[in-house]
Amino acid sequence: MTFETCNSREGLLDSDYKINLLTALATSAEKLTGGQGWPDGVHHLLKNLGQITGVSRVWIFQVMKLTSKQITQDYTFEWATKPEYVQIGMSRFSMSTNTLEDIEYKNLIESRKRGEWQKVIVKNLDPGLLKTDLESQGIKSMLTIPIFLQNRWWGILGFDDCERGYDWSPAEVALLRIGSSLIANAVLNTRLDASRKQFSLLQNITDSSLWSLDFQTQHIHLSNNLSDINVGLSVDNELPLRSILKILHPDDRKRLLQFMRSYNLTKDKSIRIELRIQSKNRFYKWIELVASISFDTLNRPVQCAGIAIDISQRKHEEAKLRQEAATDPLTGIINRRIFHESFRQLLRTSEQTRRPLSLFVLDIDFFKYVNDTWGHDCGDNVLIHMVNIISRMLRENDVFARIGGEEFAILLPGINNQQAEKIGNRIRKAIAESPYLYNKETISITVSIGCTTHHSDSKQEIDDILIATDRALYKAKGSGRNKLCQSNSRPSSL
Ligand code: GH3
Ligand code: MG
Ligand code: MG
Repeated sequence: MTFETCNSREGLLDSDYKINLLTALATSAEKLTGGQGWPDGVHHLLKNLGQITGVSRVWIFQVMKLTSKQITQDYTFEWATKPEYVQIGMSRFSMSTNTLEDIEYKNLIESRKRGEWQKVIVKNLDPGLLKTDLESQGIKSMLTIPIFLQNRWWGILGFDDCERGYDWSPAEVALLRIGSSLIANAVLNTRLDASRKQFSLLQNITDSSLWSLDFQTQHIHLSNNLSDINVGLSVDNELPLRSILKILHPDDRKRLLQFMRSYNLTKDKSIRIELRIQSKNRFYKWIELVASISFDTLNRPVQCAGIAIDISQRKHEEAKLRQEAATDPLTGIINRRIFHESFRQLLRTSEQTRRPLSLFVLDIDFFKYVNDTWGHDCGDNVLIHMVNIISRMLRENDVFARIGGEEFAILLPGINNQQAEKIGNRIRKAIAESPYLYNKETISITVSIGCTTHHSDSKQEIDDILIATDRALYKAKGSGRNKLCQSNSRPSSL
């Protein structure tokens, strides 16, 4: 005969023995689920089961890798009655890899994979690899019960008897199977604990929260961390999806709904999206959602679960960097590069809407004199002073840029040449009439302005407009400064 396999739970036992076994299982269960857990609770369980059943050795093999050709197992736990029965630490047991060539051994592994237990009385075995192997270990009888974790074969709980050829009854095995379930629970608890620790570490580093969405109930479950978002959370942090949608930034709500429709089409299993969500102080905080979606056997989405990371700080820094890259550090207005981008856009809009676009280029008159007389720092303050005067006079959609040392440009969408002449002269006068006060001294400043008005049918490129405006500015300088000069017209100082 070969080994016997079974997974039934029938048979009768002597009542004292049964009570002892049950008590051992109960106290071990308490230890495993309570403080002791893994691995002390497992040692306690093996010792109790070994002492009550009277076997020589109780052990646990963990399956590390299983392919169709071979199996790698690690001998992870052992309790033995006598020192000579101790096998843990022997190289033939730790991380041993066996091929599945032998049909009897392959059948044994297949049976374990199906969750079946096996018992053998070695002297009754047919000659073969299994018999030889067990005899070489001095084993007279053996019981093995598979340990299953979330429906996968994780390892084996084994009972070796080196003194008796013991025939295990089905009722005994049924009780010992509880032992294997307890071990599975302990492993799961340990894994959960490790995940919890990993997550709390992640939380500390990233300011994140766990979340999940149940597609059927349309409820979201959040871990505490993001509780300063602007929803009244219930005790268990569960809330309807619509209450989250309500506090999303309107643009992001639209984006999220679009996204949800599109993933439904593509059946993409993962999500990565950045959203603004209202916090209790009514400001929006930036959150990145990273999650994966699980589907049922009919390919319908069941749950979406992942982490939500507070990325407000990163977003703030990105915006600051963008701002720094776009503006002039002294005056805070946009720089030459962004001016050119805006110019291109406004020129396109002007052509599409058939509305004029006017451009001023301003240069401070005799600015070198300011620097030479009162110093460079004072010159800087004069630049800021002048920018403040002009900024107050512009509309929200006008573009004001520093395009050189003391050279500025202003784009005025929708403004024709008559209007431009008036506005330019108003600016010019306002500057001339607002001297800068420096250490009780009055520093008068004036500017010369070159102006071009682009009409949608004129087919001018940006460079043509800039050259024409520079020429006009040159003309304004040449005709005595503190003047506005339009390209193709005479200087004016209305
Ligand atoms: P003009 O009327 O012909 O324009 O005479 P100007 O003296 O203003 O001559 P120009 O425009 O050639 O001189 C510009 C001066 O502006 C030279 C430079 O030292 C000064 N300048 C350029 N950038 C800065 C700055 O950031 N701060 C200060 N304080 N001075 C600057
Ligand atoms: Mg200049
Ligand atoms: Mg100048």
